[in-house]
Amino acid sequence: MILKNYTYKKTKVNNWAEVFQNPCEITVRSIQTGTVEINKRGALNPNHPLVKDIDDEELEVPIQAYWVHHDEEGDFLLDTGIDASYITHPRGRLEGSAVDEFKLGKHENIAYHIQDHGIELKMVFLSHLHADHAAGLRELPNDIPYVISKGEFSEYHPEMEGDYLGGLDELYEIDFLQAPEIPPIGPSADLLGDGSLWAILTPGHTPGHMSFLVNRIDGPVLLSMDAIFINENLELGVAPSDYTWDVGKAQETLERIVEFQKKYTQLQVCPGHDAKN
Ligand SMILES: [Zn+2]
Repeated sequence: MILKNYTYKKTKVNNWAEVFQNPCEITVRSIQTGTVEINKRGALNPNHPLVKDIDDEELEVPIQAYWVHHDEEGDFLLDTGIDASYITHPRGRLEGSAVDEFKLGKHENIAYHIQDHGIELKMVFLSHLHADHAAGLRELPNDIPYVISKGEFSEYHPEMEGDYLGGLDELYEIDFLQAPEIPPIGPSADLLGDGSLWAILTPGHTPGHMSFLVNRIDGPVLLSMDAIFINENLELGVAPSDYTWDVGKAQETLERIVEFQKKYTQLQVCPGHDAKN
């Protein structure tokens, strides 16, 4: 795999109020590709003092991708969801009890949605490389750029998650060391150079996990991806602990997001796996 640098314009903006005062002709829509079962004890860190008595309960939650349409720049995907192989094979043709299982109905795979909506895909940004966020890549075009966070490629485990990057020769990486920190959230990259779409470093779930901010006319939306699994993470102020690389960092990131929303009440925050999105 050839790793290339994703170049983006260095923004002079140093506060979100200024960004939100200049919203853009950009829309975002969530696309569900099947479901995954997660346990409530783990979707909420059971060792956090606020969630002592949390039920040991399986939750069937959506697997989501987001379709972003920019009036001038065209169509983008944020994460891919999963591909059609999961319709007949819950482990995406992999074997072993350690492999995650997903539930996918007919006409729920990402390529179907792309065709159904007439999406002309220009580029795909991936929050991280877990199968439920990136396996859909298998049935998407190979001749467009795919963008991850720098360092995140080492988190790709094809033996566990499937060889969904197999068709690609190159990946683009966002170097967040070059991105300004815009308080109260972490380093933020202005992806299209006009303040419409941002990638924000939100580590914890994985070392280089990214969330995305869409600066719409209808109000800004933060797509947290796996920094927040379900609404209760936000309501209680408690991060997930399952599937999490560093629970302490995940909690720190969640608290930054809570502060972000408190400071900018017009900001809508969407969890990565909640039915109520
Ligand atoms: Zn994940």
